[in-house]
Amino acid sequence: MAVASAFGSGDVTDPVEIEPPDIAAYRTGNIGIPYALTFDSGRPGPHAAICGLIHGNEICGAVALSHLLERDVLSSRGRLSVIFAKTEAYSTFDPDNPNAARYIDEDMNRLWTPAAVFEHEPTNVERARVHVLRPLIDSVDILLDLHSMQADTTPLYLAGTSAKARRFAHSLGGTATIVCDAGHANGVRMRDYGPFNDDDVDQVSLLAECGQHWRRKTADMATDTAYRFLFRLEMTPRDTAAPYILPATPPDDWIEITHVFVPESDRARFTEPFARMEVIAKPGTVIAHDGHNAITTPYDDWVLIMPARRLVKNQTGARLGRLHPFAGSDDG
Ligand SMILES: [Zn+2]
Repeated sequence: MAVASAFGSGDVTDPVEIEPPDIAAYRTGNIGIPYALTFDSGRPGPHAAICGLIHGNEICGAVALSHLLERDVLSSRGRLSVIFAKTEAYSTFDPDNPNAARYIDEDMNRLWTPAAVFEHEPTNVERARVHVLRPLIDSVDILLDLHSMQADTTPLYLAGTSAKARRFAHSLGGTATIVCDAGHANGVRMRDYGPFNDDDVDQVSLLAECGQHWRRKTADMATDTAYRFLFRLEMTPRDTAAPYILPATPPDDWIEITHVFVPESDRARFTEPFARMEVIAKPGTVIAHDGHNAITTPYDDWVLIMPARRLVKNQTGARLGRLHPFAGSDDG
């Protein structure tokens, strides 16, 4: 097992507390797409979708989706799609090397650009899966995408750049911190695909980072979030959802991401082992060294979001933002 090295270099492996569920029963799906199922209530309502495993090592999504399917938690109005996104990578999951299952060839959550989704001849398994799923995602009115994180930190709802998604995230009533960001420098996430960030249309998406990849509580949070989503959409009755909803204190603030730290060298290091939503009070504080460059905070009370344990050149190392209150705004 790899041993943690300090402040953003080297591989880190935490104990795997979650048993990856066997999802072979869903291989054929029911809409002609492997590992994708749609249930139509026959009653009016939105097309909602819950997606898991777009990163094959983030098994909390597989736990939550399997939970819903095993209990026949189907929609009581509209349509519900359940999508296991990246099954080839997930099928390689090895608890002794769990990070290796993240993807086969390419990060599938950086490929939701027109150039990739409309590719006629996808060049690898992730691009091929995006190609197959794209028509289904095009038909979705409201999307929940379940993920987990390297750091054992507060769960996050990543609501993109639209006010509609920020309000929807808050309406779930969960305890997760609501973060509004534009995504990554090295590609487009599914939650940012197509109209999901356009406030002039109704489609909404939310990415839930449910906790540290391998912790049992992360799977519980993924299941909680799935039920909150379905209950909020009036697609699942309160009695069905209640046993799986965790106690929660919804946040008073949301975080606007204003800066993204992307290392320009392979020698980037944080100055401290950041992990838990640190608020850095003083402007000019050095938070990292990137080759010969010192990365500093430009204003008061920066919040550091999702610092990577392993800093890699040209990949998001951390997001930094500022707090905004829900109270007194149109987000309340
Ligand atoms: Zn992820």
